[in-house]
Amino acid sequence: MAEPGIIKKLDEVVVNRIAAGEIIQRPANALKELLENSLDAKSTVIQVTVKSGGLKLLQIQDNGTGIRREDMAIVCERFTTSKLTSFEDLTNIATFGFRGEALASMSHVAHLTIQTKTAKEKCAYKASYEDGKLKAPPKPCAGNQGTIITIEDLFYNMPQRKQALKSPNEEFQRISNVMSKYAIHNSKVGFTLKRYGEQPSIKTPPNSSQQTNIEILYGASIAKELLPVELKDDVHKFQMKGYITKVNYSSKKAITLFFINHRLVEVSSLKTALDNVYSTYLPRGMHPFAYISLEINPSNIDVNVHPTKHEVHFLYEDEIVEKIKQTLEAQLLGSNETRTFYKQL
Ligand code: ADP
Ligand code: MG
Repeated sequence: MAEPGIIKKLDEVVVNRIAAGEIIQRPANALKELLENSLDAKSTVIQVTVKSGGLKLLQIQDNGTGIRREDMAIVCERFTTSKLTSFEDLTNIATFGFRGEALASMSHVAHLTIQTKTAKEKCAYKASYEDGKLKAPPKPCAGNQGTIITIEDLFYNMPQRKQALKSPNEEFQRISNVMSKYAIHNSKVGFTLKRYGEQPSIKTPPNSSQQTNIEILYGASIAKELLPVELKDDVHKFQMKGYITKVNYSSKKAITLFFINHRLVEVSSLKTALDNVYSTYLPRGMHPFAYISLEINPSNIDVNVHPTKHEVHFLYEDEIVEKIKQTLEAQLLGSNETRTFYKQL
């Protein structure tokens, strides 16, 4: 008879690393979390620099509130956050993902350094972290108001993951995608993305408009066909705002930007509805551009949906998506009266 295996408890560092690797799957996920932190900190300018698609270096500099010096010791521990204190807060807060896990996770799978300065302090402070903990006390240094977070050698301690992500160009593309989408949603904030030592590949000015940023980032052929769309629904307590392209524009590649309560998400039901709306107008296999921002009553969002789940669901999803579909259909039709008129001639 074979002997039973001996059950052992995994080392805590290993457990944390596994959990962290699930939260941070690739550089673009890390960037998304970092962007949201900078936006939460009321930044008006956000600059990102990457080396090797973010695998060697992913650095984000903002001019936000900064992190208090006394918080620097715990900021990278799991479940430390300045954004909620009770479970009830979870249902009131207007977004997903506020659970204090992002920085902690990054410190478990990369070398993480934070330099930060608040308005109150005379100088900045800099500290490095490993496995959630400070490596040494924060050191005073010169620096501007705001925060610089540097992630180096992502997945240095997860060789298989590192192997799986072997195309820096693809990772850069994903980073660029996430950046573009946040830059459109947050058009008042100036965003810059560049490869280390090169000219910026994305640059939007502060105080810009969403249309202008769509033109900068997705081109004039989309920008000149944009139709603003809007809906406010008191029954299910949600609001929609956005831009979709008129039927003169179409592309083989679907470009969709969905935000729910200011967080970039995937909603497959909405995607399907969108394609449905356009199926009567666009040739087969062709797609519109759509930027849709939803604000849903936070109590209708399942807070247990993990922040890294890109695909989200919410209460009354079918009803809400149907209402959006009808609205888009009507607003699109309204904009196309001349075209249908010509078609009928
Ligand atoms: P969460 O965003 O869920 O609170 P994070 O791990 O992303 O968790 O961040 C932990 C905390 O670190 C935040 O609550 C915030 O107080 C602080 N923080 C992170 N990034 C920044 C930043 N760029 N500027 C100011 N504070 C930040
Ligand atoms: Mg965060």
